[in-house]
Amino acid sequence: MAAKSVGREAGDVTLVAVSKQQPDARILPILAAGQGVFGENRVQEAMERWGRLGRDGLELRLIGPLQTNKAEEAVALFDVIETLDRERLAEALAKVMQKTGRTPRLYVQVNTGEEEQKAGVAPREADGFIATVRDRYGLTIEGLMCIPPADEPPAAHFALLGDIAARNGIARLSMGMSADFETAVRCGATSVRVGSALFGDR
Ligand SMILES: *Cc1c(COP(=O)(O)O)cnc(C)c1O
Repeated sequence: MAAKSVGREAGDVTLVAVSKQQPDARILPILAAGQGVFGENRVQEAMERWGRLGRDGLELRLIGPLQTNKAEEAVALFDVIETLDRERLAEALAKVMQKTGRTPRLYVQVNTGEEEQKAGVAPREADGFIATVRDRYGLTIEGLMCIPPADEPPAAHFALLGDIAARNGIARLSMGMSADFETAVRCGATSVRVGSALFGDR
């Protein structure tokens, strides 16, 4: 609906259902309704949940910070890793991907608000970082991801992410959560990550 209202087709925007910290009882009906893409922010929690519920035919996305010592488990479980944000992680992922032949799609996380407590590369370092992971580690970057500061209007952050993507030849933008997904879709999101609006408060 958000897509239609801004002149985009619903199929242009992927709904990533953020299942982190939700009980199975809330996830099962959404699975039964045919939702096929889920977002998780912790490797361990995701392994437990989707080992239990079964993940055949589903697309699982990691949307939380990834430690290099979890790279192997993350590559084994996730179809998309949205939080590539430092060279050591690029190196670790490239190594595991080469070794296992599994190639999850990768997004670079950009800390558009340059917040101390948030992961992601600073906007002014994004071009250099993207070039490095492409050239030095041979990784393909499918998209960019951001989480705007909670206390600022998000549109400027979404626009900034779009600018960085455009000048780096990147077509996909993961942006927008429960509180701001409509704005994100208006700003060109190709996927939105919605948790509480779908499942209820955590
Ligand atoms: C938890 C989380 C979401 C979903 O947040 P809601 O406000 O519940 O929609 C989206 N993106 C990331 C990175 C998250 O950690």
